[in-house]
Amino acid sequence: MPSRDMLFEGGRVLVDNDRFEAVSILVRDGLVAALLPQGDGPDDAERVDVADRLIVPGLVNGHTHSHGALGRGGVSDDFTLEAFLSGAAWLNTQRSVDDLRLAAELSAVELIRKGCTACFDLFVELPGPTVAGTHAVARAYHNAGMRAVVAPMIADKTLYQALPGLLDAFKPPLRDAVAALSLPAWRDIMAVCEEAFGSWPVPRDRVRPGLGPTIPLHCSDDFLRACGALSATDGLPLQTHLAETRMQQVMAARKYGTTLTGHLDRLGVLSGRFSGAHGVWLSGAEGDLLAQHGAGISHNPLSNLRLGSGIAPVRRLADAGVRLGVGTDASNTSDGQNMFEAMRLAATLSRAQTADPADWVTVTEAFRMATEGSAALLGLDRVGRIAPGWAADLLFLDAGYCHYTPLRNPLDQIVLAETGAALREVMIAGRLVLAGDRILTLDEAELSRRARDAAARIDAASLDVRVMNEAASHVVRSFCRAQCAAHPAP
Ligand SMILES: [Zn+2]
Repeated sequence: MPSRDMLFEGGRVLVDNDRFEAVSILVRDGLVAALLPQGDGPDDAERVDVADRLIVPGLVNGHTHSHGALGRGGVSDDFTLEAFLSGAAWLNTQRSVDDLRLAAELSAVELIRKGCTACFDLFVELPGPTVAGTHAVARAYHNAGMRAVVAPMIADKTLYQALPGLLDAFKPPLRDAVAALSLPAWRDIMAVCEEAFGSWPVPRDRVRPGLGPTIPLHCSDDFLRACGALSATDGLPLQTHLAETRMQQVMAARKYGTTLTGHLDRLGVLSGRFSGAHGVWLSGAEGDLLAQHGAGISHNPLSNLRLGSGIAPVRRLADAGVRLGVGTDASNTSDGQNMFEAMRLAATLSRAQTADPADWVTVTEAFRMATEGSAALLGLDRVGRIAPGWAADLLFLDAGYCHYTPLRNPLDQIVLAETGAALREVMIAGRLVLAGDRILTLDEAELSRRARDAAARIDAASLDVRVMNEAASHVVRSFCRAQCAAHPAP
């Protein structure tokens, strides 16, 4: 049965991600049905007074990993990405299907509390995805009331198989231990994905499947071709970590004789459904290649800073015509799911790259990247701005909060100052999911209790793996340092 129309009256509304106007928002069947002069509106609508609210579209997270929600605090503060992949692998090795769902629900709670209404989740299940695990994550977002692309993060090569020469840097017995690690064959992984997507457990209007080949170096060429083909036949968004570190480009040159993006182009993986996460070390030619294919990049400044990966060339990519979104990355490398913080860094970090304001990422650009820009990476249509016919994914900010006192330029003050502290209500697809400082769709206290129990169990069961991972990470670190020192930056 259609729900009753809602009319939000008296607020200041960011219209078309362009300007604030004093209009009423009519919400019908999950959409913004109309923006009306204040005082107008159908008599039978439920009227809601939002006179003290700034209303903006929900933020969209272009790149995250829900499994990180159960890995908080497990990543040493001196880890680079490669040290993280080797030294913190234990965090994901002892997880049940219930743990995958729990992690996604925990992640959804933080996303909603920080103003995010949709996300691209590359969740991992080891050694490979299962139908039950993939469906558990999909159900988590469905129950949370969020929009999400649920993409199993998949690989058929371990880190030790992926990086040419790495295994030779190890001595026995550690060499034997890391050489013995393996992942499923790519055909088996693809068969699971196709079965999971074909029997999708929830309506696809909010939560839909995607593909997440983790890092090109970690996937065989045939595997990447198969991912590109399935993305094309089923219209699935596909995302991979692209040039996140300089090490990845150094290894690509050695392994493929070309750049990472050039390699993906040769394999036919680039398309308008393709997005790369990070893109820190993309060359100008790679930006042009991405733009030619209508592909995108999710800018993830928080984890790029945390792991010392660098600062992505956002202005150069934008000028080349690459579609851009903003993401947080995982809660164990960012170290949270705060899209306000990620959006602010998208604007301010560009100012550390050049003293010329003409090349900075403006407040308006950062806001559009973090809303409709990311939504395009998720393959979502008419999500990420407030306009008639667009999704009723709305954030209601307290206009009396200190960030907005005095209030001169709401968009500047939101992008440059908001942390989520002034967020009072969140609506997704016309349904309130946060109000009165409470998530309305999930039991947060119960989730916290289960998270503590799960973390204690995972930590206790992972002791041996953890010792091995930590020893391996030292070898990986010195190998990566030597490789990068021997190969100047491109
Ligand atoms: Zn990531």
